[in-house]
Amino acid sequence: MKRKLLEEMNFHPVLEAYEGVAQPCEGIKTARETFATSEAADVKTTDFDGSRAADVIGDRSVADIRADFPIFAAGDPENPARKTIWLDNASTTQKPRSVIDREANFYARENSNVKRGAYRLASNADKLYEDARSSVARFIGAKPQNLIFTRGATEGINLAAQATLRPLIKRGDEIIVTILEHHANIVPYQMIAAEKGAILRVAPVRSDGQIDLAKYKKLFSPRAKFAAIAHISNALGTILPIAEMAEIARLCGAKVLIDAAQSISHIPIDVRKIGADILVFSGHKVYAPFGIGALWANDETLELAKPYHGGGNMIADVTFTKTLYQKAPNKFEAGTPNIAGAIALAAALEYIGVIGMKNIARYESDLTRFAISELSKIDGLRIIGNASDRAGAISFVMERFSIEEIAGFLNERDICLRAGHHCAQPILRFFGLEATLRASLGLYNTVSEIEALASALRDLAKN
Ligand code: PLP
Repeated sequence: MKRKLLEEMNFHPVLEAYEGVAQPCEGIKTARETFATSEAADVKTTDFDGSRAADVIGDRSVADIRADFPIFAAGDPENPARKTIWLDNASTTQKPRSVIDREANFYARENSNVKRGAYRLASNADKLYEDARSSVARFIGAKPQNLIFTRGATEGINLAAQATLRPLIKRGDEIIVTILEHHANIVPYQMIAAEKGAILRVAPVRSDGQIDLAKYKKLFSPRAKFAAIAHISNALGTILPIAEMAEIARLCGAKVLIDAAQSISHIPIDVRKIGADILVFSGHKVYAPFGIGALWANDETLELAKPYHGGGNMIADVTFTKTLYQKAPNKFEAGTPNIAGAIALAAALEYIGVIGMKNIARYESDLTRFAISELSKIDGLRIIGNASDRAGAISFVMERFSIEEIAGFLNERDICLRAGHHCAQPILRFFGLEATLRASLGLYNTVSEIEALASALRDLAKN
């Protein structure tokens, strides 16, 4: 049945994943069976019973935190009395006042280009931009010289694909992805695989939506050159065992990229503990503006990487016969960067850093459990994916109602959540679906918002 589905997907490399044809590489044969635990395991959930008193993150009430986000007080643009329930955080997050002000303040009082001026405003902009780089790097346990600003996770993945994977990969080599990936973490590799005659191999999941590590291991042979792994599935909320998966890949000598687009706002991340070579994320999914994101890579990866974009700021010297490049990170930041965005991204990470990533993770984990228990009680509602290690992106479908009908009904009650394939068609098709509804939580969501969602769905189910 699964095989038939995969054949219908006309996505041949997937088939190899299920056949387990790889000859294991030496490193894996001798690897210890117990891997380092991931950072997420440090976060213990509390005995949350869904009571209102639990709307607290660290030492702040969620009501207090919500007051930092102007959009919640503003209400609907056409009818301010209607208050938005924002449950589409996996798509993008709302922005706190401190982030909005930080970006506006740059344009109002500090605006200048970077890396090219000899006056005070320019040197100040340089300092602000490089300070932002240091803050963002610190947030993930990295050094600033290893942190490259991008437009977002998609650009970071394309950068990694072109700068690291493309020069490395040859005909017959293999790129290992998982069936849980967002299209952004599939298509750039597929393009390179087609050009170079390489093979994309796809790790399957168990029926709960979690990676089967034994099967994952079997995919690796000495031909595996690159492994791309989502930290959290945007479609199901599964938290993947990235430290274990990275160790498997690295034992085979494959480069490892972690797509942290869905985890950066939910789980403490320390690149020193993951064991990956590259990690990417988008600012707009972590309370920062659109158009800014970051790529981290270790020294060795940056040393070997070829420049992706050519242009100003990334060169040391240009003649018509030869161009010398700067070192990373400048080497990978051609042209004028999103200076205000980078500064605002640092402000966003500072904002959540003060609240505390462990506190946020604990609160959201509790709220997720509450949401799942409420939604599970609704007649005809089926949650897709029930891995025990999971975050608050909850996909579901309902008997008798189309995705559009459910989304339309919720919209009438000002409940915003995503309806569609979530740019993750392979995993939805694994579950025999083309689309789901997805409620995804952020740090400002409350128990009563979850109750409002559950109540709306209960009313719909009665129709
Ligand atoms: N990876 C994952 C897991 C995502 O959820 C997304 C966006 O939803 C992306 C990558 C792409 O992010 P962006 O569109 O911000 O580049």
